[in-house]
Amino acid sequence: MAIQQALDWLQQQTDSMADDLESLCNRNSGSDHREGLEDVANWLEDFFRPIPVPCQRIPLSNYRSLDDHGKWVENATGPALRWDWLGENSHLAKQKPLLLTIHYDTVYGPQNPFQKCVRLDGQRMNGPGVIDAKGGIVILRYAALAACQFLKDSPLRFSIVLTPDEEVGSPASTHLWRQIHSEFDFGLLFEPTMSDGSMVSTRKGTGNFIFKIVGRAAHAGRNFQAGRNAIVHAASLIRDLHQLNGQRENVTINIGRIRGGDAVNVVPDLAVLRVNVRVGDFEDQAWIEQQMQHIASRYDAPEAGYQVHVEGGIHSPPKPIDSQTEKWMRWVESEAQQLGQTIRWNASGGASDGNKLQALGLSNLDTLGPDGDGLHSDKEWVDLTSLRKKASIVVRLLDRYVADEFVNNSRTE
Ligand SMILES: [Zn+2]
Repeated sequence: MAIQQALDWLQQQTDSMADDLESLCNRNSGSDHREGLEDVANWLEDFFRPIPVPCQRIPLSNYRSLDDHGKWVENATGPALRWDWLGENSHLAKQKPLLLTIHYDTVYGPQNPFQKCVRLDGQRMNGPGVIDAKGGIVILRYAALAACQFLKDSPLRFSIVLTPDEEVGSPASTHLWRQIHSEFDFGLLFEPTMSDGSMVSTRKGTGNFIFKIVGRAAHAGRNFQAGRNAIVHAASLIRDLHQLNGQRENVTINIGRIRGGDAVNVVPDLAVLRVNVRVGDFEDQAWIEQQMQHIASRYDAPEAGYQVHVEGGIHSPPKPIDSQTEKWMRWVESEAQQLGQTIRWNASGGASDGNKLQALGLSNLDTLGPDGDGLHSDKEWVDLTSLRKKASIVVRLLDRYVADEFVNNSRTE
C-alpha cells in the first residue's frame, strides 16, 4: 500500500524531475570551479530542503597536485553535503543506516563552451552533467523524498552524502570516506548506467601516475652539447611505458598528457608526463605500481644529467562482486521486474567512488543513476523517462531492504 503510494507520487513528478535536472545542469560546477561548486551546493541545499532533516555542510580540505611546471599547487574544492534521515521506527533497525551518495562536480569547467541543456525531443535532453552525475542527484532526491513521505513509519535509516570532487579522483572527499564509511551497512551510488542501459557489475581499478623529468637547460646554438633534453629523455621513457600495454590482459596504460619546453632555441630542462592506468585485479595493481617505479628508476640518471621522479598510484582499486553486493543485485533485478523493467549487468573499465568505498569495506551498488550516453563530451544526453523509472526501483529497493531486515514486518505493500 505505502509502496504503491510512493510509486504513484513518483509518477506525478516526471515533469518536475526533468525541470529540476535542467536547472541543476545549467549551473556550472566543474571540479576546479570553486565558486560554481559553492553555488551548486547552495542550490542543492534548497533542492533537498523538503527532506525534513538539517543539511550538514562539511568543509573539505585543499588537496595538492603537481602542475605542468612540476610544482606542487594547492587546490580548493566545494563542501560535501550530508543529511541523516531516520524513519519513525528506526530504533527497531538491526543494521546500520544505508548510504545514498553521488558527486555534484562535472568535467566541464566554466571556460568550456558546453554550459546549457537542450531538449532533443520529448524524451531526451543534452546537457553538461545530465547523466554524470546530476541526473543521479535528481533520482536520489526524489527516491529519498518518496521514502520520507511514504515509508516513514518503517525502521528505515539512511544518510545522503553529495561530494564535489569525484571527477578528479576524489582527492579531498577520500578523507571523508575514510572517516565515515564504517557508519553504514551498504551503499547505493547514483552513477549513470552503461550506454546500453546495463548496470555495472564489476569495475576495473584506475589510477594516475605523473612523471617529472628534469634535464639541463642550455642555449640551443652556443652550448647545445651542455644541455640535457628532458623532452627527448621523456620520449624514450614513454616508449617503455607504452610497451607495457598487452603484457597483462586487463591492464592498459594511456599516455594522456605531456608538457615541456618553452622557447624553441632552449634545450628544455623539464617535461611533465601524465599517465592513466586501468587494472583488472589486485595482482595487476601490484604489477603496474612496480613497473612504474622500475621505469622511473631506470631513467633516473643524475650522473648523466637527468632526474626522474614518479608520483601517484591506483586511487580506485578494482571492484569485484562480493556476497553482500550479490544479494543487492538480485534484489534490484526482482524489484525492477515488478515494475516491468529488466536489469542487465556488464563489467566496466571505468571507476567510481564505489571502488574506493568497497576497498574501505563498504559494499555498494553504484549505477542507480539514469540512462543515456556521451558522458564527458558535449554529446552527453539523458533519457528523461529513466529518471522516474530509476527512482521507482530505488524506492522499492529501500522497502525491500527494510522488509528483509525487519523480519517480523511483512512488506508494506
Ligand atoms: Zn564522470
